[in-house]
Amino acid sequence: MEESFDAVVIGAGIAGLYTALNLDPALRILLLAKGEMGGSNSARAQGGLAAVLDSQEDSQDSHMNDSLISGGFKNNTEALKILVSEAPKAVKSLLEYGVEFDCNPDGSLAVSLEGGHSHPRVLHCKDATGWSIVSKLSEAAALSRNITIWEEAMAADIKPAKNGFCLTVLYRGEFLPVTAGSCVLATGGVGRVYEYTSNSSAATGDGILLAERLGAKLRHMDWIQFHPTAFADHQRECFLLSETMRGDGARLLNAKGEEFLSAYDARAELAPRDVVCKAMLDEGIRLRDNHFFLDFTAASPAFIRERYPNIQAKLAAEGFDLSADKIPVYPCQHYLMGGIDTDIHGESSVKGLFAVGECAHTGVHGSNRLAGNSMLEDLVFARQIAEEISERGYSAPVKAGTFVPPSGTEPMPVGLRTEIRQIMQKAYFIKPDPHAVVEGFERVRDIRSQLDKGNFACTRALIEARALAHVAYAILKEVL
Ligand SMILES: Cc1cc2nc3c(=O)[nH]c(=O)nc-3n(C[C@H](O)[C@H](O)[C@H](O)COP(=O)(O)OP(=O)(O)OC[C@H]3O[C@@H](n4cnc5c(N)ncnc54)[C@H](O)[C@@H]3O)c2cc1C
Repeated sequence: MEESFDAVVIGAGIAGLYTALNLDPALRILLLAKGEMGGSNSARAQGGLAAVLDSQEDSQDSHMNDSLISGGFKNNTEALKILVSEAPKAVKSLLEYGVEFDCNPDGSLAVSLEGGHSHPRVLHCKDATGWSIVSKLSEAAALSRNITIWEEAMAADIKPAKNGFCLTVLYRGEFLPVTAGSCVLATGGVGRVYEYTSNSSAATGDGILLAERLGAKLRHMDWIQFHPTAFADHQRECFLLSETMRGDGARLLNAKGEEFLSAYDARAELAPRDVVCKAMLDEGIRLRDNHFFLDFTAASPAFIRERYPNIQAKLAAEGFDLSADKIPVYPCQHYLMGGIDTDIHGESSVKGLFAVGECAHTGVHGSNRLAGNSMLEDLVFARQIAEEISERGYSAPVKAGTFVPPSGTEPMPVGLRTEIRQIMQKAYFIKPDPHAVVEGFERVRDIRSQLDKGNFACTRALIEARALAHVAYAILKEVL
């Protein structure tokens, strides 16, 4: 039986949840999460959300300027202006949803300083800001009568239909047809295309392939951000030591235990992420030693307990004491600034197809995102999209053709996902390796074609592998 909605939102991170919650309550909305509701990058966000709330000490112009400097002045200034000016509204709304940001003793909202910011303006819920936001928005979505939530439901395909779209959704082991007047992709990042990433296992770039198949334009797929301070325990999903720690006085040390960032950039510990990561690569070459450490021993144990309880607990489980030990760190893939190209209303080049959050390219970040601007982008552009869709209404019934579920039968070849990850790690980690890019691109093109043309049984693994191959291809093609 075909299920029919006014709008379908694919993805239940902050971007998807906030879009669904802001749509006109008269619209019937389906919200899909590939795994469980907390299985997103949003739920992992630690440091916080950037917003200028106090115009005496700080200014929106300064937030804008910091974003431009961080983004190499490649930002879309129209979109950035919206981001910065709508930030107070987004924060107010989160407070109304019950998000408990940390406060100063006088009750005002506490703000931290982070790399690339010239003023403290990052609001936080200890070191689990994303989780605090996701849980409150998820509660609100579950209580909304117009929002139907399907967990463990994967969008496998989207086809254009008269008045909208027809989706194939893999839900509880079955392929179901779903129609919707408008479709919002909020599928998050692409980190799983790398061997080492901070991203959740859901970050396989599915939305990017879905958009590409519909003919939507992608932009700047090579604008990948790496995070300088992942805990160096060589796990595939890297645990981050939040950058707010360096804003709070932590120092990055080289293999000899020396502070080195000031030799590369006057902003030293507060330089933007791309600058810090490149300095680490160069310092590793200079010393012929790639070991780095984060030293937070100057902070008091009471401060660490209060501000970074989750990071402290995670490190303690690994045998490190954040207040006494130097913690081994190394960069990992973290964020995609490029993606599905959208206008300021979040609409892609395909009418009725919207994209929001990490899978979208609004242009606000330029080539390097300023810390704390990602969750802000989720919220601000989710609202832009919700307003646009609500205004259009989309009440006309969607006319879909006959539903044909995927029919492949053969098992997918093993090892292709691992191979893609190895290629990407070698070809383009912080700086491209020209030889490995050329070699990797050719192999990725073959893998992509093998996965697209093969008569493979359609499973979650196949859908993700195809997305990874297309994402890797798009990234390397831009780097070539
Ligand atoms: C460790 C970590 C720390 C971070 N810290 C910060 C920070 O301090 N401040 C900040 O601003 N940003 C931070 N970020 C970045 C920020 O959290 C994310 O970029 C942002 O929240 C992404 O939100 P999203 O809703 O676009 O995607 P996500 O939150 O990743 O959500 C994606 C959703 O899409 C679903 N999905 C994917 N594919 C499909 C499919 N085919 N079918 C159905 N559903 C699908 C997933 O299940 C998931 O629900 C951090 C990120 C990480 C990983």
